[in-house]
Amino acid sequence: MSDGRVANPDGMTEKCGVVGVSLRDRAAARPLYYSLYALQHRGQESAGIITHDGFQQHSHVEMGLVGDAFDQSDVEDLNGAAGIGHVRYPTAGSVDSSCAQPFSVSFKSGSLGLSHNGNLVNADEIRDELAGMGHAFTSDGDTEVIAHDLARNLLDEDLVRAVKRTMGRIHGSYSLTIMHDDTVLGVRDPEGNRPLCIGELEDGYILASESAAIDTLDGELVRDVKPGELVVLHEDGTGFDTYQLFDRDDTAHCFFEHVYFARPDSVIDDKLVYEVRRELGRQLWEESGVESDVVMPVPDSGRAFASGYAEAAQEEGEDLEFAEGLMKNRYVGRTFIMPTQDERERAVRLKLNPIKSTIEGKTVTIIDDSIVRGTTSTQLIQLLKDVGAEEVHVRIGAPQIIAPCYMGIDMATREELIASDRSTEEIRDEIQADSLSYLSIDAVAEALAASRGDLCLGCVTGEYPYDIEGEDTDRDVTRPVIDDISQPADD
Ligand code: AMP
Repeated sequence: MSDGRVANPDGMTEKCGVVGVSLRDRAAARPLYYSLYALQHRGQESAGIITHDGFQQHSHVEMGLVGDAFDQSDVEDLNGAAGIGHVRYPTAGSVDSSCAQPFSVSFKSGSLGLSHNGNLVNADEIRDELAGMGHAFTSDGDTEVIAHDLARNLLDEDLVRAVKRTMGRIHGSYSLTIMHDDTVLGVRDPEGNRPLCIGELEDGYILASESAAIDTLDGELVRDVKPGELVVLHEDGTGFDTYQLFDRDDTAHCFFEHVYFARPDSVIDDKLVYEVRRELGRQLWEESGVESDVVMPVPDSGRAFASGYAEAAQEEGEDLEFAEGLMKNRYVGRTFIMPTQDERERAVRLKLNPIKSTIEGKTVTIIDDSIVRGTTSTQLIQLLKDVGAEEVHVRIGAPQIIAPCYMGIDMATREELIASDRSTEEIRDEIQADSLSYLSIDAVAEALAASRGDLCLGCVTGEYPYDIEGEDTDRDVTRPVIDDISQPADD
């Protein structure tokens, strides 16, 4: 599809942070609450926790930031040593409490809670099939589809086989934390698109989207959940069991987690995000370093890139000053999700203010992690020129984003992406930079110590590791046939 339409325009995408804990003899709610704070950058639209006390579920799910969604008594009322939590990412126009999570459902053989980060590309097919069998849906989200499918499978399978059967039917990206009665489990899709890791706490175990949540609880990162792996935490908080349910040759880790989405202090797939970003910055200097008086990051996400870039330049004897010449107002949310272009432009000005003395009369290089619509760079270049920059060069720590993300990052539609139909020179001209360079895809793969075939590069190549209607794939992959729920899962 090359006309800017998205494959599933009405489908809800889930761009989120997930967590689950099982503790020895302490309430799970407070550690879950702190973890959600640590994962707040992964979603600001809604926050929720579901716990289980051995007899019943307790739930609190609200719209808004973690700090607004819970007060002291909400946390205290969530009884039980096991629980899962969720923060949901905002998408323009879809502020809807029916999609807030964790999602919970009660069925004949117990209760289920689900937190999902990712996006299924065949949810509609499964929803239609289950609806035909009498399942009633309350939202158009993927998570409810997974919950119903799993509940259905749990009627005639044990937990592990039921999860495997559901995983064999759903196609797309998912990191899930699930609570079946008081058992907490975590699953990562067979391609490992979205992150999920296991941590050990003083009195139990945790599963979380990012290791920063484990650090916040003074825990130890044990390891990443492997693609296709199911991890079941012991109900008594003493350990976990693992089941490698699917084993693929290739992975499809999202490179954009490292470039933009994840916290720099998180370790994802064995790599500290901060170090990856610094390495990307170093590569950027190697590939397209430009002489200038000063290099400055676009805060916050450009910081580690700019420090790597400046360090590589200085090692080569370049007389290049590193300066924080743009100050960020931390009380302004993400400009990206503002619904109109006019508001987005105003928001850039609200968010970033230049320090005139570091810029006036100088040749300036600004480093950002990515260009999406081009709003930020256009506004910034104008601003820097207004306060007296002689020249403004732009270096970007990722390749051109030419295609939408279907796998869980809110990226914009094809027609909104400035690079979808323009050359780098045309973009340079449009944003009015004196020069513009992006990082190559090979440099990204090198910094992640991965081959191209192990990464999801859909947004920069237009070819996806999943079978998405109307889009090209970069590998031999087809979505499962959804018509035979009565067949048992393969062993
Ligand atoms: P734009 O102004 O549309 O070109 O967006 C680029 C800016 O948004 C960069 O400063 C990025 O750090 C940031 N950004 C990149 N991807 C996203 C995303 N998925 N959500 C929110 N902000 C983003």
